[in-house]
Parts: sequence; C-alpha cells; structure tokens
Amino acid sequence: MTGVTLNGAIKRYGQTQVIHGIDLEIKDGEFCVFVGPSGCGKSTLLRMIAGLEETSEGQIHIGTRDVTHLDPAKRGVAMVFQTYALYPHMTVAENMGFGLRMNGVPKAEIEKKVQEASNILKLDQYLKRKPKALSGGQRQRVAIGRAIVRGPEVFLFDEPLSNLDAELRVEMRVEIARLHNEIGATMIYVTHDQVEAMTMADKIVVLRDGRIEQVGAPMDLYRDPDNKFVAGFIGSPAMNFLDCDIADGAAHHSALSTPIPLTNSVPADAKKVTVGIRPEHIEVDRNSDACSVDLTEALGGVSYVYLLAANGDKLIVEERDDHRSAMGEKIGISVRPDRAMMFDPETGLRLR
Ligand code: ADP
Repeated sequence: MTGVTLNGAIKRYGQTQVIHGIDLEIKDGEFCVFVGPSGCGKSTLLRMIAGLEETSEGQIHIGTRDVTHLDPAKRGVAMVFQTYALYPHMTVAENMGFGLRMNGVPKAEIEKKVQEASNILKLDQYLKRKPKALSGGQRQRVAIGRAIVRGPEVFLFDEPLSNLDAELRVEMRVEIARLHNEIGATMIYVTHDQVEAMTMADKIVVLRDGRIEQVGAPMDLYRDPDNKFVAGFIGSPAMNFLDCDIADGAAHHSALSTPIPLTNSVPADAKKVTVGIRPEHIEVDRNSDACSVDLTEALGGVSYVYLLAANGDKLIVEERDDHRSAMGEKIGISVRPDRAMMFDPETGLRLR
C-alpha cells in the first residue's frame, strides 16, 4: 500500500518559513490535487515529497516507509514537470527508456516497458521521432511515458499542462485522468487552475500561504466550503460576495429583492455578514431596478451578466433562459435561502 502521509511538514528557506506544518493523508491509488494561487507553496510541498527539497521539520511517509530524508531516487516516485525536459538528440523511445538504461536494466526489459507505456499513451507511431518533431501535447505524453516506465509507486505532476494551449489542456486532462484509472497508482498533481483540480481530483487540497485551507472531494468543496477563500477559489466564475447589513434576523443588500434569513451560527449581536452566492444560483428579478447590467458575455448555452449594484458592488449572474439580459438594462436579483452561504466579515469563516 503506497499512500503518502505528511505529519507536521515544515519548510524553511533560511529564516523564512514557507510551509507551516502540513498534516495530510493521501490514500493508496488516490488522485490528489494541490491547488492554490501562485506562491501558496504547492510546488514546494510536491518537491518535498519528491525529495527535491529538504524537509525542515516533520515527517513524510510513502506507504509505511519514512522517506523524509531519503534520496529522491530511492523514494519510488516519478515526477512530471511543466517543462518536459526531454533530450533533443534522443528518439521518443530512447527518452522514455533513458532512466532505466542508466540503472542498468537489460535492453529487452527496457523495450518491453517502453512498449507498454507507449501503448497506454498511444505513442506507438512516434517512437522513432525526435522531440522536435512532436507537438507540445505529444512531448508531454513522452514525459509522462518516461515516468510510467519506471513503475513508480507515486506519480508527481508539477503543473504539467501549463505550457499547452487551451484545447490541448482539456485533451491532456482527460488523458491523465484515464491514465490514473488505468494504472491506479497514487498521483499527486499541482496546479493553480481550479478547473483542472475540479475535473481531475479524487481529493483536492486547497493551499494558501503555506497552509491547508480545506481538503475534500471536488463537489464537497464546491457545495460546502469552510471559508470565504475556498468558496471564492473553487467554482468558475467565482462566487459573488455581498457585504450585507443585518436587520430582523435577515441579511439585507440593495441588490437583493428579498432579504435572506440568517443561518444559525451568525452571532446574535452581529451587525454585518458576508453573503456568498454562486452566479448559477442567482435568479434575475425583472421587476426590480436595483442593479444595472454593466456587460454581458453570451457563450451560447449560458450568458454571464455583470451587474453593478447601487453601492458599487459587482456581481456576476449566470443566465440560461431564452431571455437574456442586455447591457444597460436594470434588474434585481433574488436567491433561494438554501443557496446562499454566510461568512464572518472579519475572519472569512463560514457561518453555517
Ligand atoms: P507555488 O508553487 O504555489 O506557486 P512555491 O512552492 O513555488 O509556490 O513557493 C512558495 C513560497 O516559497 C513562495 O513565497 C516562494 O517565494 C518561496 N520560495 C520558493 N523557493 C524559494 C527559495 N529557493 N528561497 C526562498 N523562498 C522560496
């Protein structure tokens, strides 16, 4: 069994601590995605698991083995980087088999493993080509193939799709998910792209400033975020946040046609509350003129309507009906109370 466990993992560069005591359990065979804004520490954490960064304090286990201070080559992990790092003078097959060749693996075995990986990744027709004769997506597949032939217990991916164009990213996303289903190994995947995290992960770890904000299955984080940061980070377009005044047990805002009853844990003496509403959960009230339509983006099946409330608050509303709002129109909004989330305006913590 080869899950990955982190206990109080800390990373310091000189005096500066960048990873602040991470406790995390990644189960055997799980696809775990580290996601968060640039600089939150996701690459550092991945590199600590790979052994490419020394862990300052705490422990890292792969399966039952304590690998905290083990040489990267002995950890049973293989890493796929954003830059494919292929050898330009070697063919695809040679690139894939290079690591095994360096370890003195017999030629016949290397060929067998390269063939297996090439089957999985559909690279058969490219095995004799050099990297320069491949597209970006094909190069990334070779880099993944190079990891597969090593038969690692854990695959580590560091933003592997960032260099690809949008269409190819979607394609490779599906391929990596399929690869995971096929070989069933534990995979840890770093990205700043919440869509990648949502679509690929069994488990998402949301990081901010070197700390875990929340861990959970994609739809659990979407439906039940613990705080405003996670609520705002997961979901696209992002959740709207309204600074509401409290009166008569409800949250009031000029954009809202009907005040929203407070959730149980809003303190009795609170004067303000932050209400979070996802664009897809807003209903347009055409009898109200509380907001003006600033801009609309019609994508076909859905339109995103950018609203400006009287107090200057901005909102995005998703519309799917035949009738779509137009720029300059005046409309109001309403939301079902069970669709609205409440957050402490000071701490950002969810008030359920
Ligand atoms: P992410 O992958 O989430 O963008 P990183 O893991 O690369 O973030 O970086 C996390 C933090 O650690 C950042 O604040 C970054 O500036 C800092 N950091 C990374 N590498 C070094 C280093 N070699 N020396 C000092 N600080 C570093």
